[in-house]
Amino acid sequence: MLNDNMISIVIPVYNEEENLPELFRRLFSVMENLNRPYEIIAINDGSKDSSLPIMLQERKRNPKLRVIDFNGNFGQHTAIIAGFKSSRGNQIITLDADLQNPPEEIPRITELLDSGHDVVGTIRKKRKDSIFRRYASKLINRIMNKVTGFSLHDYGCMLRGYSRGIIDIINECGEVSTFIPALAQKFAVNPVEIEVSHEARTRGESKYSLFRLIRLQFDLMTAFSLFPLQMITILGMMIFGAGVILAAFGVGHAVNFLLAGIIVTSTGITGEYTGRIYQEVRKRPRYVIRKIYEGDK
Ligand code: UDP
Ligand code: MG
Repeated sequence: MLNDNMISIVIPVYNEEENLPELFRRLFSVMENLNRPYEIIAINDGSKDSSLPIMLQERKRNPKLRVIDFNGNFGQHTAIIAGFKSSRGNQIITLDADLQNPPEEIPRITELLDSGHDVVGTIRKKRKDSIFRRYASKLINRIMNKVTGFSLHDYGCMLRGYSRGIIDIINECGEVSTFIPALAQKFAVNPVEIEVSHEARTRGESKYSLFRLIRLQFDLMTAFSLFPLQMITILGMMIFGAGVILAAFGVGHAVNFLLAGIIVTSTGITGEYTGRIYQEVRKRPRYVIRKIYEGDK
């Protein structure tokens, strides 16, 4: 049942045992001070540490915390989708479990949702991540804006707010690989972006290796644009044109390496899309829930 004034907080959790006690202490206090109905939905995304028992313990202190326990690791964005599906509030806020997103910023987001914005995007102010991640993100934000046609300043910050209307639309999207901030942006009518503070991860490790980060960027790119495929076609035409000219002047060999590189890359990009089509047509469930801990269960 939906509640008109309720706020739903959605938190994906993967091996965050060291962060959870402080997270819930700070989050409960922020939410109690807002003086309106709320629920917290934590998704245990196949943690191998004691994240689940810790959350069940926290539930005893505050039954407004609900825990969705996945039977494996399905990824951060998939976990958030499961949280969206079971959310009942008319405002939904996502948050990382590692305290890089301070829960104290939540009231600013609810205020903007109250004032009629349907998506509250965020930009990490003085971002506390490695130089490499910061520069890579800058570059990626720029490329993604070109490719998707959005103008977001920080795709990666997950402390964001959404209206019920936006979440209902997202819940209708059945795609396997997705990227939630971009999906919300696509459907937003009156979005806003604000700066929020960001903290260093003081406990536990980032769950994203370089390889996993790259895969996530491919998810974002392929889910929102056909631009890379169209580029291949244009490139192909240009190469063909250049070939005609070079042949006319009798130039050979050196271009072969260049062409081989372009062809292999193009096959790879085409493969990224084909692979995702394959994932979609198999129609496997996106995630499997072992158990939901709610009410007095
Ligand atoms: N996370 C998850 N499943 C995963 C990877 C991450 O639920 O497969 C959660 C993680 O516990 C954290 C959030 O997603 O709450 C962001 O992950 P992380 O802090 O490792 O990412 P980073 O801040 O390094 O981008
Ligand atoms: Mg983090």
